[in-house]
Amino acid sequence: MKRRDFITQASMAAVAASVGRVGAANKRIAFGGIQIECSTYGNILSRMEDFTVRRGRELADFRLFGMTKAYAHPFMPIFLASAVPGGRVERQTYDTLKSEFLGRLRDLMPLDGVYLPMHGAMYVDGMTDAEGDWISAVRAVVGDRCLISASYDLHGNLSRRVIDSLDMMSAFRTAPHIDREETHKRACDMLVRCLDEGIRPALVWAPIPVLMPGERSSTEYEPAKRLWGQLPAMNAQEGIMDVSLLVGYVWADEARATAAAVVTGTRPATLHKVASELAQQYWDARSEFKFGVPTGTMAEVIAKAQSMTTRPVVLSDSGDNPTGGGTGDRADALAELLRMKARDVVLAGIADRPGTEACYQAGVGTTLTLKVGATLDPQASRPVEVAAKVAFLAQTDRPAERQAVITVGGVTVVLTARRRPFHEIKDFTALGLDPTKFGIVVVKAGYLVPEIAAIANPNLMALTDGAVNQDIPRLANHHRVPTYPWVPDLKWTPAPIVSARSKA
Ligand SMILES: [Zn+2]
Repeated sequence: MKRRDFITQASMAAVAASVGRVGAANKRIAFGGIQIECSTYGNILSRMEDFTVRRGRELADFRLFGMTKAYAHPFMPIFLASAVPGGRVERQTYDTLKSEFLGRLRDLMPLDGVYLPMHGAMYVDGMTDAEGDWISAVRAVVGDRCLISASYDLHGNLSRRVIDSLDMMSAFRTAPHIDREETHKRACDMLVRCLDEGIRPALVWAPIPVLMPGERSSTEYEPAKRLWGQLPAMNAQEGIMDVSLLVGYVWADEARATAAAVVTGTRPATLHKVASELAQQYWDARSEFKFGVPTGTMAEVIAKAQSMTTRPVVLSDSGDNPTGGGTGDRADALAELLRMKARDVVLAGIADRPGTEACYQAGVGTTLTLKVGATLDPQASRPVEVAAKVAFLAQTDRPAERQAVITVGGVTVVLTARRRPFHEIKDFTALGLDPTKFGIVVVKAGYLVPEIAAIANPNLMALTDGAVNQDIPRLANHHRVPTYPWVPDLKWTPAPIVSARSKA
């Protein structure tokens, strides 16, 4: 294995580009993957129609991967299948996508490099370690000499099989995730540098038996702010190419689910030391992680919002957050708002296709009786019967994009045909709603994404029931290794694992 002296990350791309320019033979690099986050605590399945599949040029032109065009070596797009987080992936859907991916990969052989932009928290019905299955299948196709780089969401789970199939990886360093493109670029810069310089890097993984919801580990707040904030400096040490720290995904009951430190580079002893230190720091901070905003039951946060003079107070219905893997069809928040006679409220939204369709049938201005909620996972929650006046219907040719605005007493509710978050102001304004004009805004979200956080005055988080319930110690736990907080007095010391390919 050829080892080179360390060069800083900042100069990595420049070196790669200049090597390319002076005529290094073009390397053949393919890229693509699958991204979904799956809760095992709900009863819905993610099927083919839930995935957006960007193939070929559509992937190459996708803004999050535009940087792949800047390299001297062509990055050849396979496809990227991505979905709103949800339930387990239906087995047939997974098998179909995997088979197409591997087929396209075979067509591009021989390859020098592969870049896999993954999420890391996929759960396929009847299978554990789904990314391990996908990534090891890619390795089997491309062979031993090809280098594979992956990028991960920081809420992804790793496994021995994932680590042993990869040569390098990089994960997001912010939550909410505002560094997607930067992370993709780090993973690609590293791959290109290794190909240009003939480096086969080492990869060291330190699993940390701690799990918590993302809502307790936002990098906007301590201790996550300092833990992740130090990564760029750690990354600048000699022999280190990437330092990543992952929270892991808590709402999948499987053995591989843990937090982790993962380090890529050329000096195995340094990698081992950095992975150990980072894992130990995370472990030591485990009881410090707190929700960044005030929390309570839905009734408590509604009462608090009603007593406040600032507006809009944004309430997060966190247990049913579709961007965390919640089903998004629950009407408990609506029931509570009506019971408490809340007024001047907008609730966006509840995934309810039958209700949405009924509103389109009835038309704007009509009042109809609706049973709202519990249409996707009727085992998990109950609908609420209301007399709803249809206020607005989104104009679209696509039934899945239909959205109806109804008013029920003092509450304006958005019903949507498909599961979707309300993360941007334009999600509201497209429906004729200005969220800043309401006293209370209720969204199905955990921590707020920046655009909604900017209008929250303030944000209160309701710790509600659902597939992404934040009450972690009460989640059923049958498959995980002994993990904090289920085992509150767990004893542990870091034991970093060197990947199989690092030793080969
Ligand atoms: Zn995430």
